[in-house]
Amino acid sequence: MSHPDTSVPTRPTTLDDPIRLLIDGEWVEGSGAAIALHDPSTGLVIGEYAGADAHDIDRAARAARNAFDGPWSRFAPAERARLLLRLADALEARIDEFARLESLNTGKPLELMRRYEAPMAVELIRYHAGWATKLNGETRQVSLPGEWHAFTLRRPIGAVGLIAPWNNPLVMAAAKLAPALAAGCTTVLKPAEITPVTAALLGELIVKVGFPPGAVNIVPGLGSIAGEAIAAHPAIDKISFTGSTAVGQHLQRTTASSLKRLSLELGGKSPVLIFADADLDRAIESAARSIFNNSGQVCAAGSRLFVERSVADQVISGIAEFADRLPVGDAFAPGVLMGPVVSAAQHERVLGFIEAGRTAGADVVAGGHAPDLPGWFVAPTVLAGTDPTMSVVSEEIFGPVLTTQTFDDPDDLDPLLRRANESVYGLSSYVWTRDLSRAHRVARRLGAGNVRVNTVTGMDPNMPFGGFKASGYGKENGREGVEAYTELVSVAMHLGD
Ligand code: NAD
Repeated sequence: MSHPDTSVPTRPTTLDDPIRLLIDGEWVEGSGAAIALHDPSTGLVIGEYAGADAHDIDRAARAARNAFDGPWSRFAPAERARLLLRLADALEARIDEFARLESLNTGKPLELMRRYEAPMAVELIRYHAGWATKLNGETRQVSLPGEWHAFTLRRPIGAVGLIAPWNNPLVMAAAKLAPALAAGCTTVLKPAEITPVTAALLGELIVKVGFPPGAVNIVPGLGSIAGEAIAAHPAIDKISFTGSTAVGQHLQRTTASSLKRLSLELGGKSPVLIFADADLDRAIESAARSIFNNSGQVCAAGSRLFVERSVADQVISGIAEFADRLPVGDAFAPGVLMGPVVSAAQHERVLGFIEAGRTAGADVVAGGHAPDLPGWFVAPTVLAGTDPTMSVVSEEIFGPVLTTQTFDDPDDLDPLLRRANESVYGLSSYVWTRDLSRAHRVARRLGAGNVRVNTVTGMDPNMPFGGFKASGYGKENGREGVEAYTELVSVAMHLGD
């Protein structure tokens, strides 16, 4: 692992603008307790804000309801599309500012933020704008006596609560707001309490481009207070939640009595299967990127490697070398490709998992420690000799830690797939092979909502994304992702006998 230049003269050290709440088109101070914001690259405080409490959420939910029943319902689909396109343009014009603020608030390397994540947020908004004008029902044939005109109608669910995690705050805000608004819903967005900065700036653009008051409310605050209040509020018709499985399960319970709609994008522990016939150079680099990207704080990170024994030494040592060479450091330092993890709590948690793995007998072949840097850094880590009884294999770490296992017979897929699918999660999975038939057979049987063959990417706004089992249910992106913000009404008209 190399440490690039850590003195970064041009980096910001504090937030210039205060974080406030956007409720009914107005910027207001939160009524809840003060929440400190940190720069994960240094561990230092960059600002603080008053989070939303139940009273603020009540105002935001009512504003969303009123906007849904009132002004927003009068926006034609094409007008909703135009507003979203204007928002995408406005965001694109200020991409550098968004990237700097996100890097300061999350520790994401600035260059990666500017080149990939911020542009992805723009594309997500643009893509979903297109759906506003394409949400149709269809006519249906019926076989009842007489003459009928039968059809389905799609209409927006109503006011929706959008609860987001801290790992990709801007992308997540875009990925939730854009389809909801395209479908005609109004929104109450709660970013994670520790990463509200870019959502607040997006709120400024939302007001500026002309969304009516109440269509978008942005209410950062504690999950236990603001999140709970959104889930419980009677004016909210649906919750779209991305975060941990534990909180997702809790939301199932808290929304059970109201039967609010719920979609859950939860955790993952995704397998990567590398067969000996694969393009190994690409497989090694991609497997490494998959787990070290965003310091492993990616729900779809490939965190459990299964490699064919005949090439296991080559692949595991190749990934370990990648880890050792990876430029880790301050998000603003030139050349850095991996920053810190997001918080002191996450730092402690990831290091705790590594220690537990070591104690259980795993071999640390790369990393395994906290580098000697200010801030919350964890060295990119590769553990060999791991097995499913170890917590590093069975639990989501959400850090830069890869576990590795081997398999013997590439043609005996049953035992391999059993091991790959032996997880409470079912979010993503990755297969590396040049054998077309094997690729298809494995892709069909992996127990995950997203399968990638010979790639680690494949995330596209038009590809539905979502998991099975403890990874949740419902899809984001694609037609399915927008339709998740609609209800289907079936209309049967009796025309005569
Ligand atoms: P988290 O569940 O702690 O928090 C997520 C959000 O829920 C935050 O906004 C938080 O304030 C809020 N929240 C917490 N308690 C709440 C409650 N009782 N009621 C309502 N809201 C509440 O998760 P996190 O630590 O922020 O994020 C990491 C997790 O998110 C990981 O498990 C990761 O896998 C998952 N994740 C999943 C996806 C996906 O698409 N499947 C994407 C990114 C992250």
